Amino acid sequence: MHRNTWMEIDLDAVEDNIRRIGSVCGKRMIAVVKADGYGCGDIQITEAAKRAGAAMMAVSSSDEALILRQKGYDGELLILGHTDADDLDDLRRNNVTVPAYSLNWVRKAIEAGCKGLKVHLKIDTGMNRIGFRTIGETQEALTLLQEAGAKIEGIFTHFSCSDSDREHTLEQFERFRNVVQALNYPFAWIHCANSEATLWMKEDFTNACRIGISMYGISGSMPDLKQPVSLYSRIFLIKQVKKGETIGYGATYTAAEDEWIGTIPIGYADGFVRKNQGRKVFVRDQEAEIVGRVCMDQTMIRVSPDIPEGTKVEIFGTHCSLFKMAEELDTITYEILCLVSDRVTRIYKRSGTKVAESNGRMNEAACE
Ligand SMILES: *Cc1c(COP(=O)(O)O)cnc(C)c1O
Repeated sequence: MHRNTWMEIDLDAVEDNIRRIGSVCGKRMIAVVKADGYGCGDIQITEAAKRAGAAMMAVSSSDEALILRQKGYDGELLILGHTDADDLDDLRRNNVTVPAYSLNWVRKAIEAGCKGLKVHLKIDTGMNRIGFRTIGETQEALTLLQEAGAKIEGIFTHFSCSDSDREHTLEQFERFRNVVQALNYPFAWIHCANSEATLWMKEDFTNACRIGISMYGISGSMPDLKQPVSLYSRIFLIKQVKKGETIGYGATYTAAEDEWIGTIPIGYADGFVRKNQGRKVFVRDQEAEIVGRVCMDQTMIRVSPDIPEGTKVEIFGTHCSLFKMAEELDTITYEILCLVSDRVTRIYKRSGTKVAESNGRMNEAACE
């Protein structure tokens, strides 16, 4: 690591969370590692999920699937979103399963050739994003794909309100069950629940669940999961400013008295958005206010006089949960994690010790 801003991921805690979710769900788990494993590392989270018993990984797109293959994952792998017909050949050769989500997609896939391609049918039960909307449409897609030699292995839908409206979620589930029953086809994989639905919905119609954010300890239904991710920086400079002096671009903060200001090497290019101004970070268990505008690469904080240069700063972690930070920034935990840019080094820990580090922009072998 060559810059004092890093995200720590406790892989033991990720695995513990997944095992606990698995024991509640009692079905095969599909670990959703899209968006570089919600910013925590696609291959690292994949390996942890495999060890904790996940049977399949899911990503959002063809490039994410092929990247995960390049990094060495050779197990079951499903794409959840859009695929381009031009990529289907590559995906089939890499044993990647793709979703069929519209009749137009099916026609293009057949034109491109989809013999032997592994497919899950995606049903739109109310999200109104991707997926077949009627039994007739789904049946037609199934027949066409079968005739073209595709391997139809699964069927799934996605809930829009699993963490806010159970009634609405159950309505979506009923619509899904109706479609699957009407097709009367031996799907090997039937799945609908994301993390939150996995943890509260009791049904034995499906045989797998898709878990993402709960691996990182976020769940309303299982609040005692561990938060395995923390973001840290380190004060590299401290100076005293006099009462009345201003801090940073736009001079938006004025020192109310003589104050000690620490500078940390994190900014909006790290995903630490400007809206963080005025929020608190933690220095030696104490709150420190973010003063002045967040810059591209640096941020200033007001610290007490006893804090020396080199002191570690927690952005989120044990003092400030992802949930708290998301609330304060008026967003969701998913966005907080995904925002941490690949400029920030990821440090992986097991049994409290560093086992690996990775920086998405550095060729580590060349720069050791
Ligand atoms: C992202 C995603 C998930 C995982 O959702 P979580 O709420 O993070 O568990 C599941 N299914 C689909 C289709 C998704 O896009």
